[in-house]
Amino acid sequence: MAEHEHTKTDGLGEMATAALGQPSDHAPRLTPGWAAPARHERMAAHKIECNACPVLCQISDGKVGACDRYANQGGALVRVDPVLLLRRHLDGDTSVLDGGLVPFLASAGPDTPSGPTEAAVFVTAVGASTTYPDYKPAPFIVSSVVDGVDMVTVVTEGIFSYCSLKVKIDTDRWLGPEQANVRCEGEVVGHVSTAEYGSQMLSLGGVHHITGGSKKEGRSTVAMMLALGNQQAVDLHIDGGAQVRVQAGQPPVVNGVPEARMRVGCGSATIGIFAQQLAGEADEVVVVDDHITGVLTEHQAGRCLAMRPSGLKIRGRKSTPGRYFQVASPGTGWGGTDLVDPLAIVERWDAGLAWPGQRLLMVSTTGEHAAWFVLDQALQPQPARMPAAVRSIVERIGENCEPSLCSVLFVGGAGGSLRAGVTENPVQLTRAIKQGRVNVTCGGAPAYVWPGGGITVMVDVLRMPANSFGSVPTPAIVAPIEFSLRLADYQTLGGHMAYVRPLAQVLASGSWHPDGAPTARRFVAAADGNPWPLGQAPMLG
Ligand code: SF4
Repeated sequence: MAEHEHTKTDGLGEMATAALGQPSDHAPRLTPGWAAPARHERMAAHKIECNACPVLCQISDGKVGACDRYANQGGALVRVDPVLLLRRHLDGDTSVLDGGLVPFLASAGPDTPSGPTEAAVFVTAVGASTTYPDYKPAPFIVSSVVDGVDMVTVVTEGIFSYCSLKVKIDTDRWLGPEQANVRCEGEVVGHVSTAEYGSQMLSLGGVHHITGGSKKEGRSTVAMMLALGNQQAVDLHIDGGAQVRVQAGQPPVVNGVPEARMRVGCGSATIGIFAQQLAGEADEVVVVDDHITGVLTEHQAGRCLAMRPSGLKIRGRKSTPGRYFQVASPGTGWGGTDLVDPLAIVERWDAGLAWPGQRLLMVSTTGEHAAWFVLDQALQPQPARMPAAVRSIVERIGENCEPSLCSVLFVGGAGGSLRAGVTENPVQLTRAIKQGRVNVTCGGAPAYVWPGGGITVMVDVLRMPANSFGSVPTPAIVAPIEFSLRLADYQTLGGHMAYVRPLAQVLASGSWHPDGAPTARRFVAAADGNPWPLGQAPMLG
């Protein structure tokens, strides 16, 4: 942790223009009412106070604040990380994406867009600084022309106390009971949520863990969210369940075993998908699944194929013909059950229907487990060598499984500081978003905005630039967010028009903020598959 001290401030001081020194030609002058942070009267002369979050670090020259994001550089408060700018390739664009750091106050270099290439650059909020304590405009309010339309993008790093991660883990294996606590380094940081099709779901973080528990719980929660958001691996323990290693875009590791296959479907669906191929090769097929186990000859698929009833009776609760719930307990064995021996779910064979020599395939929903049996004269299943034709169908079940992955979606509520940084009348922003007049992105990645009140956004961390997230020790998560809309709409909703600056000017001078001014910018290529943030319908419609 960086060297720092914390001291509460007792108010706001002289006008920000004094802190700015000599503003650049391009930087707008501050209007009365927006003030720079005051120097605390008890603060040592060689320190400056950062007010970019409520911690209010007092930072000595050459040191960074508690979050490692701001530093005292020769008496000026600077944002340590560069601002990330996305660049896309347009026809006729011969400029080079250099990827290196370029100071904002340098003269316009070859990577500075002008003319048509203005449409190829997007300023993200990664490294941009914040609007905290809520009364000042966003650090970047950037105008550009896209397809002949004047657009504006309002860019800020949000400080999120209300935020969580929704984690989807592609596995049949049972990770723990719903509502069970999920722990990280011993602290409760979330819970098991409802399972989805082929996936177990975790809900991690959230304001109750960040603010509602002990200080250690809050810090552990934010540290876990920061790591997962930045696409790093985190080890989690589920009470009464499994140990699981989670990393966005990587296979989950359950109890030390990497998961490979996401099932092709539930047991009933697997029966239906492969019924025709199996019908001629086996007399009965059981697809073992913790949720819905399928029995082919009894299942509607087997009936449609006019298969002879096998007489097999399995344990569990019958839902509909050939579909059984609760055949075993959940676990990490066959089909997400605790089964090691699949015959444990066989209750009996109906002697009036079964026959010696009957061929039985038992297989899991991933094809990972499979066994072949033949009934003897006493109608007892005897293990036998699986025929090649049956083996190839089992392999096809496996082939139809997708790779198991962990997906991590960040959910955050854009509160006061964010919205006030966009407009003097924040409800107008909320309404404009709901009307589809504002495109919301996080680090340039598309964000889903939840219906209903407020601005609750959800974004896939893998679509965001690497290391998009930060944290502050309040504790809270810092995440980038951008609002793009027509310039005319921005004016209508009460935007901070005096702070709108053309992209070229922004690239030359950086943020207007007197505190937390970014020192450098870095271009990265826009991610493949992400829509370009500007010019999205219905903004331009
Ligand atoms: S943003 Fe970072 S440096 Fe600034 S007050 Fe908060 S913790 Fe300290």
